[in-house]
Amino acid sequence: MPLKTIENLDVTGKVVLVRCDFNVPISEDGEISDTSRIERHAPTIITLVNKGAKVALLSHFGRPGGKFDENFSLGFVSESISEVFKASEVVVIPDCIGDVAKQVISDLPNGGIALLENVRFYEGEEKNDPVFCKSLADLADIYINDSFSVCHRAHSSVHGITKYLPSYAGLALQLEIEMLEKVLKNSEPPMMAIIGGSKVSTKLKLLGNLVEKMKYLAIGGGMANTFLAAKGLNIGSSFYEKDMLEEAKNIMEKAKTVSCDIILPVDAIVADKLEFGVESFAVDLDNVKKNNMILDVGEKTVELISNGIINSKTLLWNGPLGVFEIPPFDESTSSCALTAAMMTRAGGLVSVAGGGDTVSALNHAGASGGFSYISVAGGAFLEWIEGKSLPGLQVLND
Ligand code: ADP
Ligand code: MG
Repeated sequence: MPLKTIENLDVTGKVVLVRCDFNVPISEDGEISDTSRIERHAPTIITLVNKGAKVALLSHFGRPGGKFDENFSLGFVSESISEVFKASEVVVIPDCIGDVAKQVISDLPNGGIALLENVRFYEGEEKNDPVFCKSLADLADIYINDSFSVCHRAHSSVHGITKYLPSYAGLALQLEIEMLEKVLKNSEPPMMAIIGGSKVSTKLKLLGNLVEKMKYLAIGGGMANTFLAAKGLNIGSSFYEKDMLEEAKNIMEKAKTVSCDIILPVDAIVADKLEFGVESFAVDLDNVKKNNMILDVGEKTVELISNGIINSKTLLWNGPLGVFEIPPFDESTSSCALTAAMMTRAGGLVSVAGGGDTVSALNHAGASGGFSYISVAGGAFLEWIEGKSLPGLQVLND
């Protein structure tokens, strides 16, 4: 079904609440390490500003767990926002609901921008609580969701709020869907998925469905550790999720029945701690020591994954294969990303990647330009690929 879009929408002098995704990656020294997520919203925000709306930006940042925590305060993105959106001033509001916030927003000049505080400081957000939804809706005349990356969540600022305000899809959200549809419409088998990163429990369930559609499923990053442990391998002191071992076994069993090749690491780059400059070792997986943490996949694994890429016509990628933020644990991700980009440029592969950290990893590798399409969404991207109906999109249907 088509989405309700902001084309022809009259917003002059009206308060427009825009659900953004400013959940940006942060470097060791606390700086924003990649501004892609902010940049994606520029078309929507600049359009609203030019049409004379009063623009209130709403986002989550991290997982503060439903209460105020200054480590997750969003004010720090305001400078980047004014740069990217070419705004002279962004008014930072220390709350995301309430009379004061409402007053500040309605006092904005036409074309003015305000940034609300982290919406996850309230328990009501993740609970899709009607009272909280209404408090958010009270701030504005119109609601726009500009974040595909949160559409798989039935949260107040994504889902419930739309009951109380006229609601539309922003240009970034619209573009994500249009591009994914266009790119994947012509996708051909054999298909491969590369799944890595650290959000094991949220992504693991999706793998069960992906194996049905994929010829190859390469699993790397923290995700792979859970699978290796499920196979009874010693993973030293690596990060993994104990309560997901059964699930991992089930996925491996299922893969056999649908003849999907699961590519798991056969070697790894390990270190005793995770920090810059730490001494690292390349080891085979039967040689991981008690104190070792698996921080990247090794060369032999890169070769297996690269062969998968070369033998596929469609590639879906979410999650880096290693801790790419800290060299040398970026090597496998960069190497596989460059292979995918090269194959895509040569015309033999349709490659689509998604995920906040995945985008920065591909930028870091200098490979993003070579992909057919890159989405900033991770979990939502995977669920969309599976064909699931996303709660945040359902409520924006025309
Ligand atoms: P995305 O944002 O693209 O959806 P995730 O948030 O799931 O990806 O995961 C990205 C994070 O996973 C990165 O910060 C990276 O350092 C981490 N990661 C990758 N490999 C490992 C590993 N072996 N151990 C721990 N963390 C890892
Ligand atoms: Mg992430």
